[in-house]
Amino acid sequence: MEFVSDGIERLTGYPAAAFMARPGLSYANIIVPEDRHGVERGIAAAIQDGGEFQLTYRIRCANGDLKWVCEQGSAVPHGVSHVLEGLLFDFTRVRNADMLVREQASYLQRARDAIVAMDMNSRISYWNSGAERLYGWSATEARGKKFSELLCENLPAYHAAYETTLATGEWSGELSHMRRDGACIETDTRWTLLGADATLGAQQKILVISTDISERKHNEAKIYRLAFFDALTDLPNRASLLDHLRRALLGSARTRKCGALMFCDLDKFKYLNDSQGHAAGDMLLQAVARRLEHCVREADMVARLGGDEFVILIQPVEDTREGAAAQAETVAAKVVAAMAAPFQLAEMMYSVSVSVGVATMCGTVDTVESTLRQADAAMYQAKACGRNTYRFHDPAIQAAWSARAELENGMRRALRDSEFVLHYQPQLDRSSRVIGAEALLRWRLPDGRLLYPAEFIHAAEESGMIIEIGRWVLRTACTELARWQRFPDTAGLTLSVNVSAGQFTEPDFVPMLAEIFEQTGVQPSSLKLELTESLVVSDFTQTALTMGMLKQRGISFSLDDFGTGYSSLAYLRKLPLDQLKIDQSFMRDVLTDQNDASIVRSIIALGDSLGLQVIAEGVETPGQRQFLSDAGCFMYQGFLYQHAISAEHFTAYARNVH
Ligand code: C2E
Ligand code: MG
Ligand code: MG
Repeated sequence: MEFVSDGIERLTGYPAAAFMARPGLSYANIIVPEDRHGVERGIAAAIQDGGEFQLTYRIRCANGDLKWVCEQGSAVPHGVSHVLEGLLFDFTRVRNADMLVREQASYLQRARDAIVAMDMNSRISYWNSGAERLYGWSATEARGKKFSELLCENLPAYHAAYETTLATGEWSGELSHMRRDGACIETDTRWTLLGADATLGAQQKILVISTDISERKHNEAKIYRLAFFDALTDLPNRASLLDHLRRALLGSARTRKCGALMFCDLDKFKYLNDSQGHAAGDMLLQAVARRLEHCVREADMVARLGGDEFVILIQPVEDTREGAAAQAETVAAKVVAAMAAPFQLAEMMYSVSVSVGVATMCGTVDTVESTLRQADAAMYQAKACGRNTYRFHDPAIQAAWSARAELENGMRRALRDSEFVLHYQPQLDRSSRVIGAEALLRWRLPDGRLLYPAEFIHAAEESGMIIEIGRWVLRTACTELARWQRFPDTAGLTLSVNVSAGQFTEPDFVPMLAEIFEQTGVQPSSLKLELTESLVVSDFTQTALTMGMLKQRGISFSLDDFGTGYSSLAYLRKLPLDQLKIDQSFMRDVLTDQNDASIVRSIIALGDSLGLQVIAEGVETPGQRQFLSDAGCFMYQGFLYQHAISAEHFTAYARNVH
């Protein structure tokens, strides 16, 4: 060395003289061996270009410490060679600080989580490799894009997170993000508001750290399915049922509404398992599960308890146990009927039936245990009653149900064995001449007792049997009317027949009537159908359409029990009606009750102004009849003249009074 300043001692720990001595300490030798090559190359380049150089490298000090040195210098030509002139700085502190920053930055890069920073406009300014891995976008692609556009498929959730972060400084929760490939990933995410830092020149930002929890979610779902679903049928399992039942009862205790629980047990399932093997049994259980699911509403639940035992939970939404029982009965009947068609098990067709036990429940009284026990007990009763049926646990409900079932069976037998008869109640005009009759249904029981419609028509309507019974009534009435039409003294009589809503709205009501006309040869112009207001109101358009079609065939219409329903004048005007029939309830007290009297007068006035006939039923006294004729009503039906009597008696009566 030619010259060294004293500062070299502060830098290296060796006195300047050490370098000046000959042979002295070579400065090149205290440069750490790994950096020497770089230094040599830098100097060689500077010599070649004749320019300046700036090098950083490490030296080993006298005390063994390493120091970073920054050397700035130039190669000055000197004869054939060069002289190096330069300044050395201790660069260690700056270098270490820089290293620290780099190291810390590398932590962010190496973190497994996705770390993203965005400005207050949602623009991404930082994107670590975790984010690249999680979202599939590279840092270069992501930087400058909007976080909300790149990742959010659920914008409301994003905005909520943003608002909370702005308001409270942070937000954490689950967010689903969209990957570059369009897949959706579930993340556990923490947002932190980073304030602006004037010394760093940094603006306000939001730091978003997200952990991929898709797998955890997936596993949770799997565990949930394992814990609460039956692997064979995919139905909720016992644990799930107990949980739902407990909640249903809690809800029911609060709302005081009633629901039901139904035990469904396949009949003779063991036989299939034993004879055809478990694979066949499993297939049947799966198929049964699917059919059961079709029998319930969405809110209700079908679960498998195990073996061939299924349970249906009917949610508590009914006001009374009877209401809940009626709901459950509809489902139970569907369940029993759903098993009617045989099951296709691989190559084999297999028929199975089910026994169902129904228990109604109300959270104020019943518990999970009592409800389960009652439904189970009822199911055993169903088995004891010959299987393929359902039974109620509640004795009163079971009794009512049995009575109705008995009534329905009775009506079926009545149709088969001709136990129904029609009686005819005369209708008379102002001069007490018979102008026609109303056909009224009676049921002659095998023991000779006569049942009136009040005792069975409702059940017939509820069960749908009214369709078949009504068809019988119409055929019988038309046969009778055709007979009247063959004799001159009865040929002018009209016959009124009551038609229930369920009958009239049957799609083939019109063709069915046409067929009856054909078979009986009746002139339909003397046939009058009595409809009720509720039918007209419930489906006005369809009713009007059907009435129009029948009207073309000459049939006329009477509105029965008029005044008890809700028909509006607008309806009345638009329907092809011929007659209003004042309900007998207004007749009863018409002479003593001012309200009834005014109602009757109004109906008569209404009929007049609409150009409709008005007939009064339930006319029992001469006083009532006088009232009616004073008010302008001149057609009467009632005990004052005659009760409903047999066809034979009626023709005799009509001939005499004619
Ligand atoms: P409705 O059509 O209003 O029939 C009139 C009812 O009043 C008949 O009762 C009749 O016997 C009764 N009645 C007649 N005159 C008097 C009277 O002066 N005083 C009193 N207190 N009652 C009188 P019934 O035969 O028991 O029929 C009851 C209801 O059953 C009928 O009411 C009708 O809605 C229905 N019904 C009867 N036959 C049939 C039918 O063949 N098909 C359908 N769907 N329903 C029918
Ligand atoms: Mg009637
Ligand atoms: Mg009536």
